[in-house]
Amino acid sequence: MSQPIVHMFPCLKDNYGFLLHDPATGETATIDTPDAGRILEEAKAKGWAITQIWNTHWHPDHAGGNADIVAATGARVIGPQEVTRLGAAPDRILHEGDVVELGSVQARVVETPGHTLGHIVYHLPMHHIAFVGDTLFALGCGRLFEGTASQMWDSLGKLRAMPDDTTVYCAHEYTASNAAFALSVDGGNHDLVAYADGVKAKRAQDIPTVPTTIGAEKRANPFLRADDPKLQAFVGHPGDVVATFAEVRERKNNF
Ligand code: ZN
Ligand code: FE
Repeated sequence: MSQPIVHMFPCLKDNYGFLLHDPATGETATIDTPDAGRILEEAKAKGWAITQIWNTHWHPDHAGGNADIVAATGARVIGPQEVTRLGAAPDRILHEGDVVELGSVQARVVETPGHTLGHIVYHLPMHHIAFVGDTLFALGCGRLFEGTASQMWDSLGKLRAMPDDTTVYCAHEYTASNAAFALSVDGGNHDLVAYADGVKAKRAQDIPTVPTTIGAEKRANPFLRADDPKLQAFVGHPGDVVATFAEVRERKNNF
């Protein structure tokens, strides 16, 4: 078992692209396809041939480049059924608990409905890595376009159950605005205040705030803290986890 290499790069307006490379076999996957041209260039610059596409959900800034990358590389597409909405069905359709392989690297599929109903996350437990798409962001979470607050809270619970040292690759650089919102509901949280200071310093120098870790998000991300009594009281739903989560999500939509 070799340790995979993750090459991350910004693309489109605020997306991140990710190439996952297995040095042992030379296989390379692109996690989602926000910008086909850019992804192909990055792979070429690394000298890597893209052999697989791993989709997290159907949104065009995640699967919209599939056809062009397949045309250029012949890569095999794996992902949730919902990707079919953009045209072609994935070569392999994934479900909870499925194991996918990139050479010697294995990932487990975790279903995380909420942002979309078919959203999945790729967890590489042996390597302490998770590609979480638009389910979890640094200090934020995805908007509920298709699922309910209750579904999203359960989905985030699956991520919260991963080991604290799991490196989390989120698909967007939204952290500065997420931090401002988080402070508005949980400003007494010292871990959050310290995290937000770090975000400000990084963004001032145009440094990415991604990846983050499960441990850091558990301590500071209000969307993972709906069971915290202080946060519950602050938003007016003491003792009610799902109502607290729904309220925090709603306030963020209007922030
Ligand atoms: Zn999305
Ligand atoms: Fe997105």
